[in-house]
Amino acid sequence: MVIIRSRLFSVIKRANIFLPSVRHIKVTMGDPLDHATGANKRELLARLAGDNNPWDFKIIKRGPGTRDKPTEIPSAFDERMVGCICHEESASVNFMVLYKGHPKRCECGYWFTLVHKAPV
Ligand SMILES: [Zn+2]
Repeated sequence: MVIIRSRLFSVIKRANIFLPSVRHIKVTMGDPLDHATGANKRELLARLAGDNNPWDFKIIKRGPGTRDKPTEIPSAFDERMVGCICHEESASVNFMVLYKGHPKRCECGYWFTLVHKAPV
């Protein structure tokens, strides 16, 4: 490899070719939005539009949680898995599957319902 490199430089020197220093060339990847596709691009566009929670992964505080006023869980699908931290000091999460149009009561007594959300 060293021999090839030295021969290359000697050829360049003899041919009187000017090569700019590679150290001064700045290479950047450009805007990530230009490279993103599919769901990743839709997520970036949603974040640019001001939606910092496009996938609804943040914790939703329970409301009154009664049968008449259940806690609303957004979903773009007909079902969604929900985890309820039934008691503040609880170290476990009670998971259940919610179906659209079928409010469900957790073991702690709080009601949850699925509400439609436009997909990302
Ligand atoms: Zn619960």
